[in-house]
Amino acid sequence: MPTKPRTSARRAVRRATPSASTTARPSRADAEDAVRTLIRWAGDDPTREGLLETPSRVVRSYEEFFAGYGHDPKLVLARTFEEVDGYDEIIVLTDIRFESHCEHHMVPIIGKAHIGYLPDRRVVGISKLARLVEVYARRLQIQEKMTAQIADALQEVLKPRGVAVVVEAAHQCMTTRGVHKPGVSMVTSRMVGAFRSDARTRREFLSIIDMAGQRGIPNA
Ligand SMILES: [Zn+2]
Repeated sequence: MPTKPRTSARRAVRRATPSASTTARPSRADAEDAVRTLIRWAGDDPTREGLLETPSRVVRSYEEFFAGYGHDPKLVLARTFEEVDGYDEIIVLTDIRFESHCEHHMVPIIGKAHIGYLPDRRVVGISKLARLVEVYARRLQIQEKMTAQIADALQEVLKPRGVAVVVEAAHQCMTTRGVHKPGVSMVTSRMVGAFRSDARTRREFLSIIDMAGQRGIPNA
Protein backbone atom coordinates (compact mmCIF):
# COMPACT_ATOMS: atom_id res chain seq x y z
CA MET A 1 0.00 0.00 0.00
CA PRO A 2 2.64 2.66 0.80
CA THR A 3 4.06 2.41 -2.71
CA LYS A 4 0.84 3.35 -4.43
CA PRO A 5 0.48 6.95 -3.25
CA ARG A 6 4.18 7.60 -3.97
CA THR A 7 3.76 6.41 -7.53
CA SER A 8 0.73 8.57 -8.24
CA ALA A 9 2.42 11.57 -6.65
CA ARG A 10 5.40 11.17 -8.98
CA ARG A 11 3.08 10.89 -11.95
CA ALA A 12 1.24 14.03 -10.92
CA VAL A 13 4.49 15.95 -10.70
CA ARG A 14 5.62 14.71 -14.10
CA ARG A 15 2.34 15.76 -15.68
CA ALA A 16 2.21 19.13 -13.94
CA THR A 17 5.73 20.29 -14.75
CA PRO A 18 5.62 20.53 -18.55
CA SER A 19 2.02 21.72 -18.74
CA ALA A 20 2.52 24.46 -16.17
CA SER A 21 5.33 25.99 -18.19
CA THR A 22 3.64 25.72 -21.58
CA THR A 23 -0.09 26.21 -21.05
CA ALA A 24 -0.68 28.14 -17.82
CA ARG A 25 -1.77 31.63 -18.78
CA PRO A 26 0.44 34.36 -17.30
CA SER A 27 -1.31 37.07 -15.31
CA ARG A 28 -1.96 40.53 -16.71
CA ALA A 29 0.77 41.83 -14.37
CA ASP A 30 3.23 39.28 -15.82
CA ALA A 31 2.33 40.44 -19.34
CA GLU A 32 2.79 44.10 -18.40
CA ASP A 33 6.18 43.26 -16.86
CA ALA A 34 7.19 41.60 -20.09
CA VAL A 35 6.36 44.82 -21.98
CA ARG A 36 8.48 46.81 -19.50
CA THR A 37 11.34 44.40 -20.19
CA LEU A 38 11.01 44.96 -23.94
CA ILE A 39 10.94 48.74 -23.46
CA ARG A 40 14.12 48.54 -21.39
CA TRP A 41 15.67 46.21 -23.93
CA ALA A 42 14.86 48.68 -26.73
CA GLY A 43 16.82 51.26 -24.77
CA ASP A 44 14.15 53.37 -23.10
CA ASP A 45 13.02 53.90 -19.53
CA PRO A 46 9.64 52.36 -18.69
CA THR A 47 9.35 54.63 -15.63
CA ARG A 48 9.39 57.88 -17.59
CA GLU A 49 6.06 59.63 -17.72
CA GLY A 50 5.20 59.00 -21.39
CA LEU A 51 5.70 55.26 -21.01
CA LEU A 52 4.01 54.68 -17.65
CA GLU A 53 0.69 53.57 -19.13
CA THR A 54 2.21 51.84 -22.14
CA PRO A 55 2.42 48.31 -20.71
CA SER A 56 -1.28 48.28 -19.82
CA ARG A 57 -2.20 49.73 -23.23
CA VAL A 58 -0.10 47.12 -25.01
CA VAL A 59 -1.70 44.31 -23.03
CA ARG A 60 -5.18 45.63 -23.82
CA SER A 61 -4.21 45.80 -27.50
CA TYR A 62 -3.06 42.21 -27.31
CA GLU A 63 -6.45 41.21 -25.97
CA GLU A 64 -7.92 42.61 -29.17
CA PHE A 65 -5.23 41.37 -31.57
CA PHE A 66 -5.40 37.83 -30.23
CA ALA A 67 -9.08 37.55 -29.31
CA GLY A 68 -9.39 34.66 -31.77
CA TYR A 69 -7.92 32.19 -29.30
CA GLY A 70 -11.07 32.57 -27.21
CA HIS A 71 -13.41 31.46 -29.99
CA ASP A 72 -14.03 28.12 -31.65
CA PRO A 73 -14.27 28.68 -35.41
CA LYS A 74 -16.49 25.64 -35.82
CA LEU A 75 -19.02 27.05 -33.36
CA VAL A 76 -19.09 30.27 -35.37
CA LEU A 77 -20.29 28.28 -38.37
CA ALA A 78 -22.48 25.82 -36.53
CA ARG A 79 -25.08 28.34 -35.48
CA THR A 80 -26.75 29.35 -38.71
CA PHE A 81 -27.62 26.76 -41.26
CA GLU A 82 -30.56 27.22 -43.57
CA GLU A 83 -32.17 25.08 -46.21
CA VAL A 84 -31.83 26.49 -49.72
CA ASP A 85 -34.48 25.55 -52.22
CA GLY A 86 -32.51 24.34 -55.18
CA TYR A 87 -29.83 27.03 -55.14
CA ASP A 88 -26.80 25.21 -56.45
CA GLU A 89 -24.56 27.94 -57.84
CA ILE A 90 -21.43 29.17 -56.17
CA ILE A 91 -21.64 31.71 -53.37
CA VAL A 92 -18.78 34.17 -53.12
CA LEU A 93 -17.93 36.74 -50.49
CA THR A 94 -15.14 39.06 -51.60
CA ASP A 95 -12.89 41.59 -49.90
CA ILE A 96 -13.25 40.48 -46.30
CA ARG A 97 -10.70 42.76 -44.68
CA PHE A 98 -8.66 41.30 -41.86
CA GLU A 99 -5.83 42.24 -39.55
CA SER A 100 -3.58 39.51 -38.29
CA HIS A 101 -0.07 39.14 -36.85
CA CYS A 102 2.70 37.05 -38.29
CA GLU A 103 3.88 34.36 -35.97
CA HIS A 104 7.53 34.93 -36.84
CA HIS A 105 7.79 38.63 -35.97
CA MET A 106 4.47 39.45 -34.28
CA VAL A 107 3.90 42.41 -36.60
CA PRO A 108 0.72 43.05 -38.61
CA ILE A 109 -0.43 41.21 -41.68
CA ILE A 110 -3.20 43.27 -43.28
CA GLY A 111 -5.22 42.02 -46.16
CA LYS A 112 -8.40 40.66 -47.64
CA ALA A 113 -9.88 37.22 -47.89
CA HIS A 114 -12.21 35.99 -50.63
CA ILE A 115 -14.31 32.95 -49.92
CA GLY A 116 -16.41 30.90 -52.28
CA TYR A 117 -18.31 27.69 -51.82
CA LEU A 118 -20.64 25.48 -53.76
CA PRO A 119 -23.52 24.65 -51.41
CA ASP A 120 -24.98 21.24 -50.95
CA ARG A 121 -28.44 22.00 -49.52
CA ARG A 122 -27.10 24.16 -46.71
CA VAL A 123 -25.70 27.68 -46.58
CA VAL A 124 -24.25 29.79 -43.85
CA GLY A 125 -24.98 33.47 -43.20
CA ILE A 126 -22.42 35.68 -44.93
CA SER A 127 -21.61 37.49 -41.70
CA LYS A 128 -20.46 34.11 -40.36
CA LEU A 129 -17.89 33.86 -43.14
CA ALA A 130 -16.48 37.23 -42.14
CA ARG A 131 -16.51 36.12 -38.52
CA LEU A 132 -14.68 32.91 -39.43
CA VAL A 133 -11.90 34.94 -41.05
CA GLU A 134 -11.69 37.11 -37.95
CA VAL A 135 -11.42 34.19 -35.53
CA TYR A 136 -8.42 32.82 -37.42
CA ALA A 137 -6.89 36.24 -38.15
CA ARG A 138 -6.86 37.25 -34.51
CA ARG A 139 -4.17 34.75 -33.69
CA LEU A 140 -0.47 34.45 -34.44
CA GLN A 141 -0.50 33.34 -38.03
CA ILE A 142 1.25 32.58 -41.24
CA GLN A 143 -0.85 33.42 -44.26
CA GLU A 144 -0.64 29.97 -45.82
CA LYS A 145 -1.89 28.32 -42.64
CA MET A 146 -4.72 30.81 -42.18
CA THR A 147 -5.89 30.27 -45.77
CA ALA A 148 -6.03 26.51 -45.26
CA GLN A 149 -7.71 26.79 -41.85
CA ILE A 150 -10.55 28.93 -43.23
CA ALA A 151 -11.16 26.55 -46.14
CA ASP A 152 -10.91 23.41 -44.05
CA ALA A 153 -13.25 24.66 -41.30
CA LEU A 154 -15.85 25.62 -43.88
CA GLN A 155 -15.55 22.29 -45.65
CA GLU A 156 -15.69 20.30 -42.43
CA VAL A 157 -18.70 22.02 -40.88
CA LEU A 158 -20.85 23.02 -43.86
CA LYS A 159 -19.90 20.04 -46.08
CA PRO A 160 -20.46 21.89 -49.35
CA ARG A 161 -19.47 20.46 -52.73
CA GLY A 162 -16.37 22.63 -52.62
CA VAL A 163 -14.64 25.56 -50.99
CA ALA A 164 -12.28 28.17 -52.43
CA VAL A 165 -10.32 30.64 -50.38
CA VAL A 166 -7.95 33.29 -51.72
CA VAL A 167 -6.11 35.57 -49.31
CA GLU A 168 -4.04 38.56 -50.35
CA ALA A 169 -2.11 40.48 -47.75
CA ALA A 170 0.75 42.83 -47.04
CA HIS A 171 3.18 41.75 -44.36
CA GLN A 172 4.68 44.48 -42.24
CA CYS A 173 7.60 42.22 -41.46
CA MET A 174 8.55 42.81 -45.12
CA THR A 175 7.82 46.53 -45.24
CA THR A 176 9.09 47.87 -41.91
CA ARG A 177 12.01 45.52 -41.28
CA GLY A 178 14.18 42.93 -43.04
CA VAL A 179 14.08 43.50 -46.79
CA HIS A 180 12.01 46.74 -46.50
CA LYS A 181 9.88 46.16 -49.56
CA PRO A 182 6.62 48.11 -49.35
CA GLY A 183 3.79 47.49 -51.79
CA VAL A 184 4.36 43.75 -52.00
CA SER A 185 1.35 41.60 -51.43
CA MET A 186 1.28 37.87 -51.03
CA VAL A 187 -1.52 35.78 -52.50
CA THR A 188 -2.36 32.34 -51.17
CA SER A 189 -5.19 30.03 -52.09
CA ARG A 190 -6.80 26.81 -51.03
CA MET A 191 -9.18 24.95 -53.35
CA VAL A 192 -11.19 22.03 -52.02
CA GLY A 193 -13.67 19.67 -53.71
CA ALA A 194 -15.22 20.99 -56.93
CA PHE A 195 -12.92 24.02 -56.95
CA ARG A 196 -9.93 21.72 -57.04
CA SER A 197 -11.24 19.05 -59.39
CA ASP A 198 -13.22 21.19 -61.84
CA ALA A 199 -11.27 23.88 -63.69
CA ARG A 200 -14.47 25.62 -64.83
CA THR A 201 -15.76 26.06 -61.27
CA ARG A 202 -12.36 27.34 -60.20
CA ARG A 203 -12.21 29.79 -63.11
CA GLU A 204 -15.69 31.06 -62.28
CA PHE A 205 -14.65 31.79 -58.71
CA LEU A 206 -11.41 33.47 -59.76
CA SER A 207 -13.15 35.62 -62.35
CA ILE A 208 -15.77 36.74 -59.78
CA ILE A 209 -13.14 37.85 -57.28
CA ASP A 210 -11.12 39.41 -60.09
CA MET A 211 -14.19 41.35 -61.29
CA ALA A 212 -14.89 42.48 -57.76
CA GLY A 213 -11.42 43.84 -57.20
CA GLN A 214 -9.97 44.34 -60.72
CA ARG A 215 -6.97 42.46 -59.45
CA GLY A 216 -5.79 40.49 -62.41
CA ILE A 217 -5.30 37.27 -60.49
CA PRO A 218 -4.30 34.72 -63.13
CA ASN A 219 -6.81 31.98 -63.82
CA ALA A 220 -5.39 28.78 -62.44
ZN1 LIG B 1 6.92 38.00 -40.22
